[in-house]
Amino acid sequence: MSSQDISEIKELLSSPKKIVIIPHKNPDGDAIGSTLGLLHYLLKLNHNAVVIAPNDFPDFLKWIPKQDTILKYETQQNESDALINEADIMFTLDFNAFHRTGNMETILTKSNAVKIMIDHHQQPDNYAKYMFSDVTMSSTCEMVYHFLDKLDALDSIDKNLATCLYVGIMTDTGSFRFRSTTSTTHTIIANLIDKGANNTQIHNNVYDTNSYNRLQLLGCALNNLKIIPESRTAYITLSQNELQKLDYKKGDTEGFVNYALSLNNVVFAAIFIEDKQNKIIKISLRSKGDFSVNELSRTHFEGGGHTNAAGGKSDLTLSETVDKFISILPQYNKVLNNV
Ligand code: 5GP
Ligand code: MN
Repeated sequence: MSSQDISEIKELLSSPKKIVIIPHKNPDGDAIGSTLGLLHYLLKLNHNAVVIAPNDFPDFLKWIPKQDTILKYETQQNESDALINEADIMFTLDFNAFHRTGNMETILTKSNAVKIMIDHHQQPDNYAKYMFSDVTMSSTCEMVYHFLDKLDALDSIDKNLATCLYVGIMTDTGSFRFRSTTSTTHTIIANLIDKGANNTQIHNNVYDTNSYNRLQLLGCALNNLKIIPESRTAYITLSQNELQKLDYKKGDTEGFVNYALSLNNVVFAAIFIEDKQNKIIKISLRSKGDFSVNELSRTHFEGGGHTNAAGGKSDLTLSETVDKFISILPQYNKVLNNV
């Protein structure tokens, strides 16, 4: 984002505008934290701004300031369509291709709003007039902080805004441990705490609100864990039956794949989750070092993401998907054994 871009955006935001802020489908902590963080800022500037999410988000995020104002396209389509059609400005956060918004793709593509992308995924599409796209960033929340810095707006970060950005940086960095975490990330986190973010409370709200069923589901997932030593790979499956038995709720499987990656001598991990309603197997992939799960997901599972964390899907059955996964592994053995 050039200084010319920044001054144009400053000019754009200098008078009240109608603004929609869009995260990706199945929004995670970074998607919700970044869109709500930006919302807090825009509301302070007296804009008419709203976050419209493609669908619902996990309960462990349902305490973040202003989360109750988020419209869900899945259930509030008419109201959302009207707001998108009238919008002067559209921010798209934590994704870089309209298909990542599921059913919102058509209306977003048609929109005449000035589009501003803030995102840290690879290979962005070219739909935005202003693009702040940086794959080295830990999180979109970290980028929103830098964006506010560029706008000379760090002073407008209050406790609520700081809380939103803290959540996304924390969740996208695995609590500040993934490779994308830099000293700058920590400095920003320190600044957010100084602005009022209550770090202990936030960790508690996100990570220590397990239901009994979720822990049982984790037990089931760990029971299903398989290791393929020659590929330094581990994977987990969860069938619809298993999910139903333990009263699965959105977000319950978040982080499960990391247990597979935590195994000694494993550098590549996957979880395959059967979604009978959408007739797909949802896949999450994680890796260590330079092994790109983004590339593997793009090539084999219609997905994408980052080098070390990506997602995708398969239209095959659960066991066929696992068979396909196992069959493609040998071609990566050399690189997996050199990570
Ligand atoms: P997760 O496995 O936690 O769902 O996602 C890991 C990363 O991959 C996230 O940054 C997410 O945005 C991205 N991702 C997840 N699913 C998909 C997908 O189906 N397509 C693409 N392009 N990216 C995905
Ligand atoms: Mn993110």
